[in-house]
Order: sequence, then C-alpha cells, then structure tokens
Amino acid sequence: MTSPLSFDRAANLARLGSERFDVLVIGGGITGAGVALDAATRGLKVALVDKGDLASGTSSKSSKLVHGGLRYLQQREFRLVYENLAERQRLLNNAPHLVEPLPFLIPLFGKDGTFPKAIAKIYSGALRMYDLTGGIRIGHRYKRLTKDEAIKYLPTLRPDRLVAAFLYWDARADDARLTLTIARTAAEHGAVIATYSPVASLRREGDAVRGAVLEDGMSIAADVVVNATGVWADHIQRLDGSAEPVHIRPAKGVHVTVPSHKVPAEIAVVVNVPGDRRSIFVVPWGEQVYLGTTDTDYDGPIEEPTCTADDVAYLLSAINAATTATVTSDDVIGTWAGLRPLVADAKSTRTADLSRRHSVTTSPAGVVTVTGGKLTTYRAMAEDTMDVVVKRLGRGAKRTKTKRLKLLDDRAAIDALVAGDPSLGAPLVPGLSYRCADAVYAARHEMVHTLADVLARRTRALLLDRDATVKAAPAIAKLIAPDLGWSTEEAAAQVAAFTAMAAAEERAQHAHINEPALSERSERP
Ligand SMILES: Cc1cc2nc3c(=O)[nH]c(=O)nc-3n(C[C@H](O)[C@H](O)[C@H](O)COP(=O)(O)OP(=O)(O)OC[C@H]3O[C@@H](n4cnc5c(N)ncnc54)[C@H](O)[C@@H]3O)c2cc1C
Repeated sequence: MTSPLSFDRAANLARLGSERFDVLVIGGGITGAGVALDAATRGLKVALVDKGDLASGTSSKSSKLVHGGLRYLQQREFRLVYENLAERQRLLNNAPHLVEPLPFLIPLFGKDGTFPKAIAKIYSGALRMYDLTGGIRIGHRYKRLTKDEAIKYLPTLRPDRLVAAFLYWDARADDARLTLTIARTAAEHGAVIATYSPVASLRREGDAVRGAVLEDGMSIAADVVVNATGVWADHIQRLDGSAEPVHIRPAKGVHVTVPSHKVPAEIAVVVNVPGDRRSIFVVPWGEQVYLGTTDTDYDGPIEEPTCTADDVAYLLSAINAATTATVTSDDVIGTWAGLRPLVADAKSTRTADLSRRHSVTTSPAGVVTVTGGKLTTYRAMAEDTMDVVVKRLGRGAKRTKTKRLKLLDDRAAIDALVAGDPSLGAPLVPGLSYRCADAVYAARHEMVHTLADVLARRTRALLLDRDATVKAAPAIAKLIAPDLGWSTEEAAAQVAAFTAMAAAEERAQHAHINEPALSERSERP
C-alpha cells in the first residue's frame, strides 16, 4: 500500500523547488502519469506537474473503454488492433481492480424479420478477426444471438426491427481513477508529483531546456523535460521555441448520462446514428447508463469544452431510433465533454488515421513531446517516450519494467476507514454507490485540492447525477474540510465554485451553438 506521505502536494512542491531531477514530466493526464511511472521504475528521479488536477484534461472525459478498436479491422489495421489488444490484456492483468471485461451487443436491425446476409457476414468476419488478433485472451469468443437472446440485454430494443445480434468482449475502466492510480504507483516508486502547478516557461542551460518555471516563479531543474500535455502540447512547444509545433488538431467528443430505467441496458450496446455513418456506445455505469460519443472538429477554447444541446440531440437520436422508450433532454442527468489530442500529420490524408497513432518527437533544445494515442495504449506510449529519454540521458534502465507491473490497490484501506467509523459507510450522494469514506480517503491520501477533485474525478458523482451531487456538496465539503484544513469560509467558497461549474455545464446542455452538420462529422469512435 502507498505511503500517504509520498503523495502530499505541499511536501512535493517543496522538493520540486529544491532538488534536481533526471526527468520532469509536464502534464498529469494518463500519458504523463504513465511516463512518470515508466521513468521511476527505470530507476530515474522523476518529477511531474499538472496545471490542474490529475486527469483534469481529456483523461477524465473519455468513453472509458479499454479496447482494441473493432472498427480499425475494417480498415485492415491488424497490427494496430493486435497491439491495442495486447495493452488491454496487460491492463486486465496488472489492474484487475480497475479494469473489467465488458460484453458488447451489436443489434442487427432489419425489415420484415430479415437482415442482409452480406452485412452479417462482414460483422462476423470482423469479430472473428478481433478474437484472432488477441481478443480471445479475455476468455470469451464472439457469438451470434437470436432476437430473444438479444432483447434480454436491452429489453427496450425495437422488437419490430430487431432481427438478431452479435456479442463480443472488450473492457472498461474509470479513466480518472486509472490515471490517479498510475500516478500514485509512480509516487510509490519515488516520483514527486504536484497538481495545480502550471508551467509558465521553460528553464534553460545554454541552448538546452533543463526544467521549467511554474507560474508562481518556482524553478524545477531537470535534465530532460517531457511534454505530455495532450491538446496543450503546441503551447509547451511554443514555450520551447526551438521546433515547429506538432500541430494538435482537437476533436470534441461528449457523453450524456441517463437513468437506467430509461435505457435498461445490462451490457454495453452499439447503436447506429440515423443519418450519419457513425455509431455510439450505450454503457451501463453503476446506477445509470451513459451514451457517447460524438466526434466534431473543434476550434473553441481548449480549457473547457462543453456538451451542447446539439450534442445531446445527436446522441438521443441514436438511442431513440434503436429503442422503444423515448429519451428526451430532460432525462439527461449528467454530461461530460473532452478533446481528442489528435496529431495533424501532413502525410495523412484520412483524418481517421490521426486518431490512433501516437508520436514521440524531440526538439533541438531537447524537449521530448508525446502526443496522440489512446487511454488504452498509455503504457506503450510511455515506454516509447522513455526509450528516447533514456538514450538522451545515458542513464536509467534501457528496457521498460511496466509490462508486468501491478498498479496500486488500496481498496482495503477504505474498508478499514468504515470499520473504524461506521458513519463513513453512509452514501456520499443519495442514489449513488459512493460512500462518505471514499471522499475522506481521497482528502487524506489522493492529493485533493478542490471539492471538484472529489466530486468529478476521485468519485464520478458529478457525471452520474449532477443535481443530486450539487445538493450534497455542502455536507461533503464539511465532511472533508478538517482533512484539507479548510475554514468554514473556504469550504463555502469551494461549494460556490463547484455549484457554479455544475450550473455552467447545465446551461451549456441547453444552449444551441453552431456545430458542424452531421455529414461533416468525422469517422473516429
Ligand atoms: C470523447 C473521447 C472519448 C475517448 N474514449 C476513449 C476510450 O474509450 N478509450 C481509449 O483508450 N481512449 C479514449 N479516448 C482517448 C483518450 O482519452 C486520450 O487519448 C487520453 O486521455 C489523452 O491523455 P493525455 O494525458 O495525453 O492528455 P490529457 O488527459 O489532456 O492530459 C494533459 C494534461 O496536461 C496538463 N497541462 C496542460 N498544460 C499544462 C501546463 N502548462 N503546465 C502543467 N500542466 C499542463 C493538463 O492540465 C492535462 O491534465 C477518448 C478521447 C475522447 C476525447
């Protein structure tokens, strides 16, 4: 179990300003956390800073799937799917407490009880190939289901159109908790991590970048800087100034949460979007179900992408075409919006090519930038990045140690809190399965700095039921205030900030903002 002291923000900040590091990672999303873990386990002295909370960027806003990417097979990207599925398997092995297998249903809708044989053949061919490229290692093969079997998994599937279905397996994880756990595992191996520490400029020794300077003026000395800032990567490269920016092309994707009685899915379901060539996922999550995602080119502010009324309408059109119960925007009880950090590659003509590749580049001043990729492939991205860094440094283990490295598991510590104080076993937010102990443990040991850290990322209460979470916020702030040293005024300010954030999210959900027409939406899942 982790030593809580190694994950204390104030203590870590003091070390960042006074020690020299082999590697400084900028960005505490899954990519940066993965790089910090790889570096620390290769025996290097590593620091990581994020301008906000861990996973506060894209890494808390994904579809939360750990997957091979079934659709890449249709593009004959066998090697890529093989690699993704190998990473999926490693995550299932190394973090079984965070990553779980999840069955997916592909309903086949037809006319008069028949479905075109040729299309069914294409599906079964792709699924057989998915199994062969490594999918089978999850312990289940794909299979074809009858209409009656399929309807058991989602009883509201349109009986008039449903003909049959396929069932296959992938996996899922709570993205923000996975990122946090990777960062805490890195801390266990010696990484020094601090949140709410924005890098304002890069530190130079001669022509080389050797560390960074935070907004508050603190200077962090490091022999190599890794830029793992996702959609902010261009910004750090501009601070470097020695190379052309990588040209990130952000693509927005949103999800909405609805109560499971509206969409009673027992397993994940893939449904097509009418009038578009895309499909979306319907994924049961605790007491609710979420639908997503969209995929729109984005040129708005990258700090806070929002889920708009048009996004909601797009997702609901898909579920309403596939099921009998009508889901309206009034049924939406949570939303999240994220930006894919796609690398605009001059050599690629197809935008779909951009989504799945990652790239590692080194600027003339020595900044190593890692961009693109997926949640699923964070470990391989970190390995590739650290191979480059170790070469530059001339020290550190040449080979990664993360292929079989177990991620931290401290669930027992939370149970121990409840055993010591049964009142902490009470629900944190009425209707959700989180306990008060989850918030208290987060405040004590998970580098919480704001109330939103607890309600949006340590727990995912905000995503699962926004209104109920806002109502519970004052009591939760009071509960964790002693551990965080918050005065009554500070706790009230935290509640006000959290409430304002939730209100802005709700306003956006009802606002119509011009977005590209459906036909302009690109093809990435
Ligand atoms: C809608 C959507 C659905 C997705 N679904 C899936 C999925 O189901 N499965 C999957 O495998 N992948 C999925 N992805 C992709 C995956 O989420 C991303 O590839 C991954 O989260 C990117 O992580 P990252 O660490 O590179 O970026 P981020 O998580 O954005 O991290 C970058 C960090 O850098 C920090 N930062 C920026 N500037 C500074 C600075 N100046 N100083 C300090 N810190 C700074 C930011 O605060 C941020 O925390 C999805 C993506 C989207 C958008």
